Amino acid sequence: MSNPTRITHLIAGSPWEGTAERTSEVFNPATGEVTGVLDLASADLVDEVVTGAKQAWQDSWGSLSLAKRTQVLFKFRELLHRDRERIAALITAEHGKVLSDALGEVMRGLEVAEFACGIPQLIKGGYTENASTNVDVYSMRQSLGVVAVISPFNFPAMVPLWFVPVAIACGNAVVIKPSEKDPSATIAVAELWTEAGLPDGVMNVVNGDKEAVDALLGHPDIKAVSFVGSTPIAKYVYETATANGKRVQALGGAKNHMLVLPDADLDLAADAAINAGFGSAGERCMAISALVAVDSIADELVEKIKDRMGKLRTGDGTRGSDMGPLVTGAHRDKVTSYLDSGVADGASLVVDGREGTYDADGDGFFLAPTLFDQVRPGMSVYDDEIFGPVLSVVRVRTYDEGLELINANPYGNGTAIFTNDGGAARRFQDEVEVGMVGINVPIPVPVSYYSFGGWKNSLFGDTHAHGTEGVHFYTRGKVVTSRWLDPSHGGLNLGFPQND
Ligand code: NAD
Repeated sequence: MSNPTRITHLIAGSPWEGTAERTSEVFNPATGEVTGVLDLASADLVDEVVTGAKQAWQDSWGSLSLAKRTQVLFKFRELLHRDRERIAALITAEHGKVLSDALGEVMRGLEVAEFACGIPQLIKGGYTENASTNVDVYSMRQSLGVVAVISPFNFPAMVPLWFVPVAIACGNAVVIKPSEKDPSATIAVAELWTEAGLPDGVMNVVNGDKEAVDALLGHPDIKAVSFVGSTPIAKYVYETATANGKRVQALGGAKNHMLVLPDADLDLAADAAINAGFGSAGERCMAISALVAVDSIADELVEKIKDRMGKLRTGDGTRGSDMGPLVTGAHRDKVTSYLDSGVADGASLVVDGREGTYDADGDGFFLAPTLFDQVRPGMSVYDDEIFGPVLSVVRVRTYDEGLELINANPYGNGTAIFTNDGGAARRFQDEVEVGMVGINVPIPVPVSYYSFGGWKNSLFGDTHAHGTEGVHFYTRGKVVTSRWLDPSHGGLNLGFPQND
């Protein structure tokens, strides 16, 4: 495309009208073309936006009744549903994932908007009448002020939706910084809040890179930070923002294992390994990247997966392909480099993605699905989060050996067990040190009224995303002990008040 579109910030409901000192390019990964030029925010601009958001919170949203807040949330949910296909198309155009997958992402995000519509029930406090004689005690949860959301490229609609509806429902103002690789879907969803009737300034999008992130992490009026991205940046964000006195939930990278026991249905397991390994070109934090085959089934399972891989179509996400490109050329090259290192480390390359063909025009960032067998810890294909369409089969002799492997991994985002043995599955759910567990479900992303989050290097902070944990993250608790005027309470007594 000869004329890339300008993509800018969304501040107080309107596109920014200033001139950016720095910009970055946004690509269509299926064609390799530059389709957008993105304004990158300076620290000064971030400061201005946060100040405006704080004002909006103080003047309107923070003190608006729950009834009025809920009306905006219901309207937002309707608008998101109305525009789901338009937003999915924006995701495909900048991320590359196929349209059906992009639509699935929007619909999973929509579920959180629906959850947030129940805020009157979610935010309800407790009340104890006559806790002491004529003394009542009750609790409430109040908004924090301005909160920041910093999101990754791989779910430009769903990950922001994990946080923003809950934060807004709780009465906060939000400044979100989307990934600079595919910001348009995030901006399009943010625009719907204005149409839904949210007061200007409560929802803002600043685009940017490290400068904008650091400005948010250091800003005194940012009270909480929700981050999702790679583990090194998650750790940096957690350490920096907590040192600045903020509450932080920083969700990091992953290496998800699928344990297949000998009694499992191998056809179902092979289907699941393909879907969870290569969906979204492996660019999912819940993708299966290590398939752990127990005992004698490995040969048969590898054959079944290989057969199915032969039927997958890789190409432009708008053309009915199964799998799209990687997000950038640099990322595709990095993922490809693991194919060389896997072979050099002694893994067996069963299907080589470099030999794939693609249904696309132009020079897109494609790499077809790859399958490695005989992978072991210590090989970079096993140790690193590759974040691409590369599935590794690790062979173990027993359930215990498989469990030990999974628990020794530094990540703990998602995992799955495939078996028909209920006792084994129950043992696994108890013993595995991972935050989200699937039993014959390869991508166990929790529904919106449960909370999403991993363990170990997959999450820094105490609170997971959405569900009741999200409501707690975006509110502060307060307990009131009250007694109404009663002459019998007069008189001086400096002793510690006792309940009577
Ligand atoms: P990333 O860490 O490169 O970027 C995430 C965000 O951090 C972006 O907004 C980016 O602009 C910002 N950022 C990048 N470098 C920075 C720096 N030096 N200082 C400050 N901010 C910086 O991640 P990504 O490549 O966009 O996303 C993929 C990663 O996200 C994978 O590791 C994946 O596992 C992880 N992820 C995790 C979850 C989860 O729930 N645990 C969900 C989705 C993605």
